[in-house]
Amino acid sequence: MSHSDAGTSDDAALSGNALPALLRWYEANRRDLPWRRSRDPYRIWVSEVMLQQTTVRAVLGYYERFLGRFPSVFDLASAELSEVLRFWEGLGYYQRARNLHRAAGILAENPAGPIWPSSVEQWQSLPGIGRSTAGAIHSLSTNLWAPILDANVRRVTERLFGIPPDVPVRDRRLWEASNSWGRENPRPADTNQALMELGATLCLPAAPSCEGCPVASLCKSRTEIHAAKDPQGKKVGRKPAPLRMRVALVPSSGPLLFEPRLEGRLLEGLLEIAGFSSPGLAPGETVGEGSLGGWTVVEEIGRVRHVYSHFREEVQVLKVEAPRLPGSPEEALREGGRWESLEWAGRLALTGVARKIVSALRSGAFRVPDTAGKRAFGAGKNGEGEKGRPVRKDRNPLPFPSIPERDRP
Ligand code: SF4
Repeated sequence: MSHSDAGTSDDAALSGNALPALLRWYEANRRDLPWRRSRDPYRIWVSEVMLQQTTVRAVLGYYERFLGRFPSVFDLASAELSEVLRFWEGLGYYQRARNLHRAAGILAENPAGPIWPSSVEQWQSLPGIGRSTAGAIHSLSTNLWAPILDANVRRVTERLFGIPPDVPVRDRRLWEASNSWGRENPRPADTNQALMELGATLCLPAAPSCEGCPVASLCKSRTEIHAAKDPQGKKVGRKPAPLRMRVALVPSSGPLLFEPRLEGRLLEGLLEIAGFSSPGLAPGETVGEGSLGGWTVVEEIGRVRHVYSHFREEVQVLKVEAPRLPGSPEEALREGGRWESLEWAGRLALTGVARKIVSALRSGAFRVPDTAGKRAFGAGKNGEGEKGRPVRKDRNPLPFPSIPERDRP
């Protein structure tokens, strides 16, 4: 990559030369995405939050559904957080949904109608909105200029302007370069959309398609990127994300115990099947303390894998003898924990891993313990407080295949 500490005048010269070709290319190649059909700040805000660290392809399945249920900021503000999380389920990074809900509450305080922020700084003062998201919402909803630096635009900027990893005050350089597109620019919103589109469709992380790039003749990194190959001549790719191991415990009879993810952790507030981090447990091993104290492993009934943005997780699903089934309301549950039958579990706001396990248990892909017991303590609607142990049934003697890893769409 060409080293450059060039200041804003060099940046402005480059972006000024590149802008006409960039906009022409965008006009001809832009994808018709639902959030590009409107300048409504609510719709743009929701889309920008959904798109944080998530691909367009993944968001497409959620955006219209979410807006169908929460068509205005008032609908979002007045909804229960648990319902908002339900409509977010599967999209990941659930803190975004919590922040969206909190921010909606702030914006909806005015009964006459939301007073939308009128500057990047005002957008940034809302929960969960950083500088780049604030710039994108402001720019796309007003067609005024504001620089952005989401993952796609950051990559385009690093490469196009030749800003290397070791340059001093790198972030400041990247923001300066991104901001240079705003000079005498008649189409600020389209420019930001074009930069995002370029990063999402051509200037890809591992293998940029420079041959189709509208600004290739000006790009300061093009030559070096294509020289970056390993000794076999293949393009250098990413290292696999680290793998974390966990166990999930499924009682051999009766309902399952679901526990909430702890505050401040990834997927906070969603429920997971009771378990803990562990490289694995063998039959006969007994679990230690807390609400799981005294549970003894009978056998492994399957494994699931899940890919997060920064790590992979493999969960060993174990059938256990659980001496302390939910027999009384005093059962020591972590706050928010609940016993739930397999039958009802699909209605809970579950983590992706928990949903895979529940689905495998229900479909018979895993050996199915008798988990069809009635709902018990800790339950919500539809059967709250029902007691009783289920009648034991025959096991489903299926093999124990692993549920494969699913790439994030
Ligand atoms: S020429 Fe290649 S590396 Fe440079 S901006 Fe275009 S796609 Fe990215």
